[in-house]
Amino acid sequence: RNVKKYFPIHKGLLNRVVGHVKAVDDVSIAIRKGETFGLVGESGCGKSTLGRVILQLQRATGGDIMYQGETIRTLSSSSLRKLRQQMQIIFQDPYGSLNPRFLVRDIIGEPLRIHTNATSKQIDARVVELMELVGLDASRRNRYPHEFSGGQRQRIGIARAIALNPQFIVADEAVSALDVSVQSQVLNLLVKLQKELGLTFLFIAHGLNVVRHISDRVGVMYLGKMVEVSPTEALFDKPLHPYTAALLSSIPRPNPHLKRDRIVLQGDVPSPANPPSGCRFHPRCPFAEAKCSAEEPQLQEVMPGRQVACHFPLL
Ligand code: SF4
Ligand code: MG
Repeated sequence: RNVKKYFPIHKGLLNRVVGHVKAVDDVSIAIRKGETFGLVGESGCGKSTLGRVILQLQRATGGDIMYQGETIRTLSSSSLRKLRQQMQIIFQDPYGSLNPRFLVRDIIGEPLRIHTNATSKQIDARVVELMELVGLDASRRNRYPHEFSGGQRQRIGIARAIALNPQFIVADEAVSALDVSVQSQVLNLLVKLQKELGLTFLFIAHGLNVVRHISDRVGVMYLGKMVEVSPTEALFDKPLHPYTAALLSSIPRPNPHLKRDRIVLQGDVPSPANPPSGCRFHPRCPFAEAKCSAEEPQLQEVMPGRQVACHFPLL
């Protein structure tokens, strides 16, 4: 609720704070148990920061984070460590996030060693089970990460993330570094695991096409703000925010007749250190009017289940 994450900008020899990058600026979302909430936006819009702040890997500057109805923003680090077992993150880079000098067996078993009293034999049995669950050949557990392909390494990361039976997983660009064909295999795996294990996902991606097939609902961020939240199909059928429409029209479509509603984004994303006044999208919005630079639109429900932050939504 009302989550903010500001990073100070330092300058000069004295390292004076001369401003703040408002990476996440007053964002409220509710992720429901068992759903996949897709979070999209261009790089630098604050989506990864929001994911990390929700998991308390970074502390919020303001606002509150609730998990199962209770605030977790003020938890001590020891209570937080316990809660972390229920909340995990899968990173983008399956290469960088796996220690190259550890055997796969040790990488997947590490959380069990740290957080449980399981014996090595029990850990080994669980590693075998986890590798089978994510579609890896468990007889290869005594090998190193570099002996696996990119997609397999992402499966190793997933096996490690689910080792402690978490309930909530943030997948931050989990498939972005993979080839398209491998992407869909890993997405299918995540969908399967969600069904089998009853997981809840926050699925972060920069492109809408990746979240489409996996998400129940989608949130679109722009320059630290949530600009639209909608059930996935409704969003693709009829985006309400001009920025969402622009993101959608950059997805190649097989039907050229649909091009008429194409919105082309102009200019670059402005700096989040010095965001535009009013609606932050106004310098790039083809529908901007005087009100847009003067007054900040609030995220509000304009149709059942559909929220948008725009003075002139595409209703
Ligand atoms: Fe465009 Fe105005 Fe809506 Fe912002 S508020 S998205 S500038 S129409
Ligand atoms: Mg990111």
